[in-house]
Amino acid sequence: MLVIEWLDGAHCAYPLPGLRYICPCVSCRGGHANMGAAIDPADLAQSPPPGVSTTVVSAHFVGDYALQIVWGDGHNSGIYTWTLLRPLCAGNQ
Ligand SMILES: [Zn+2]
Repeated sequence: MLVIEWLDGAHCAYPLPGLRYICPCVSCRGGHANMGAAIDPADLAQSPPPGVSTTVVSAHFVGDYALQIVWGDGHNSGIYTWTLLRPLCAGNQ
């Protein structure tokens, strides 16, 4: 789980397989046309296909707007913005 304590007091736990499933990078989204599309919070309960790592090696802040996660298979192009993550927390506090 990735746990974020938001400044508004919300306590949110994000399952790592679900975070990998919703990876917001161009490759995982299926192309530029799909970038920016809303992500269904239910997708956090999904898991990526077999062979896709759900182990986090490290995570880094990107400026003050996002978190970059480095996965066990080296994938690191997903930039998880706070504006992406916060709405996914609804019902998960
Ligand atoms: Zn990706």
